[in-house]
Amino acid sequence: MNQIACARPFRLPAEASPLGFRQRPHRVLLEVEGLSKRFRRGEAAAVERVSFAVGEGELLSLLGPSGCGKTTTLRLIGGFETPDAGRILLRGRDISQLPPEARGIGFVFQDYALFPHLTVLDNVRFGLRRMGRAAAVARAGEMLALVGLADLAARRPHELSGGQQQRVALARTLAVAPPLVLMDEPFSNLDATMRVETRQEVRRLLKAAGSAAILVTHDQEEALALSDRIAVMEAGQLRQLGTPDEIYRNPSSAFVASFLGRSNIVAGRAEGMAADTPFGRLPLTRAANGAVQLAVRPEQILLEPDAAGAATVVGREFRGHDQIYWVQDGETCMLVISGPGAPMAVGQRVRMRVCDCVAPVG
Ligand code: ADP
Ligand code: MG
Repeated sequence: MNQIACARPFRLPAEASPLGFRQRPHRVLLEVEGLSKRFRRGEAAAVERVSFAVGEGELLSLLGPSGCGKTTTLRLIGGFETPDAGRILLRGRDISQLPPEARGIGFVFQDYALFPHLTVLDNVRFGLRRMGRAAAVARAGEMLALVGLADLAARRPHELSGGQQQRVALARTLAVAPPLVLMDEPFSNLDATMRVETRQEVRRLLKAAGSAAILVTHDQEEALALSDRIAVMEAGQLRQLGTPDEIYRNPSSAFVASFLGRSNIVAGRAEGMAADTPFGRLPLTRAANGAVQLAVRPEQILLEPDAAGAATVVGREFRGHDQIYWVQDGETCMLVISGPGAPMAVGQRVRMRVCDCVAPVG
């Protein structure tokens, strides 16, 4: 493969630590310190020494594969589980020992938990029992207008679509203006199109209400589209925390590189901010030394037809806006994503170039 020059040098923002762990939000709302939970003795911990902070009004996703401890982390914060160790502070106050209803945190359940016999308006009004009746009706009406359901106030939940039920549940939670809302896979009951529409709507509503939220998801696209920051979990532990862009650009491990987006992992030899790789000498997103594994994103590889090229296209998938190629080069098979122009046929000899910084991930 050819020696290349890097066309687009990538720099981390000065205030960010390389992996984001020390990065703290501007105005801290919630602090989770060393949270651990083991359900059964002798079994692996469901959550192990998890620490992070959420800012006022911030939208944070907990992202990771099934069973990695996302729901348990959320339930610990909500007070539905008791931690073995660790503390939870809301605006500096230790709420670890308080029951869920005394924490001042809103919760949107996966199944929305709407009351089937109550109207939409009364469902939203439910959390406002302590207000006078007139004030509660006015507030519930306001919330329904905010989520675009004012016309459906008299309906019952079964007369609504899944997306509308989701918005009623959110309106009910936001009606009491909680500083923090917890949501566990809130879009999993919606079909694909509804999911895309509803998640942007939910983001807008949370921002309009000024509430922060922690959203659990196993869907990387959802986390990328919705979050201010993402916390990636694996096997009960927090692996990386940062903005979607930071984590995508500079994943801390091969696991994170492959869970958030797709990656080719190639071997190289690093020396500070550069490494010798099968693609020639490449700049790195952060310093490393010695033998390293590098994450090369499929869209970072440029394919050029070259009859004398060492690599061969062995597979192709047309996706409209782009295409996926599998390119064999000796022992290794690389995944390449390129734009729709000038498609290459299977069997075509090619040259691969990388024109970007790559992340050392191991
Ligand atoms: P996720 O939400 O990321 O899929 P969970 O937090 O639900 O993961 O689960 C993490 C681990 O804890 C899993 O191994 C799961 O089986 C276990 N677990 C969760 N809840 C309980 C429970 N109530 N009793 C025993 N084990 C549990
Ligand atoms: Mg879960």
